[in-house]
Amino acid sequence: MKQKTILIIEDNPMNMEMATDLLEIAEYNVLKAENAEDGIQIARNTEQLDLILMDIALPGMDGIEATRVLKKDDKTKNIPIVALTAHAMKDDNDAALEVGCSGYITKPINTRTFATAVGHFFSPHIKGKGEGYFIHYL
Ligand code: MN
Repeated sequence: MKQKTILIIEDNPMNMEMATDLLEIAEYNVLKAENAEDGIQIARNTEQLDLILMDIALPGMDGIEATRVLKKDDKTKNIPIVALTAHAMKDDNDAALEVGCSGYITKPINTRTFATAVGHFFSPHIKGKGEGYFIHYL
C-alpha cells in the first residue's frame, strides 16, 4: 500500500516532534508547518496530501480560519482536516466541526493512542468517538 502523507500544522515544537515521531513510526510520510500561512502553501503545492492535522491556537492566522481558507479552495477542499484541540476547549471542537473539519483529536497527545486515532480517519467503517478523538464525518 502506498504510504499516506499527512501535513501537521502545529506551532508547539514539543507537540510537533511527538506527533511527527508517532506518525513516522506508524509509517506515514509527514510534512510540517509551524504556522497556518506556511501550511496552506504546502497544502496547495503538495500533489498527494491525504490528511491535515490542524492545531487551532496558532500565531497569526488560527486553525479555524486556516480551515476556512483550505475548504474554500478547489485545490485543497477535499483534503480531510482533523483539528488538534486542547482538551478543555470545547468551543474549539465545535468551531472546528462548523468550518469543515472531519473531527478532532484532543491534546495533550496520548503517545499510546495518537497514531491509531489518526488511522481511524482513513477507515470509513469507524465513526463516532474513542479515547481522545471524535470523528464527525469522513
Ligand atoms: Mn498552538
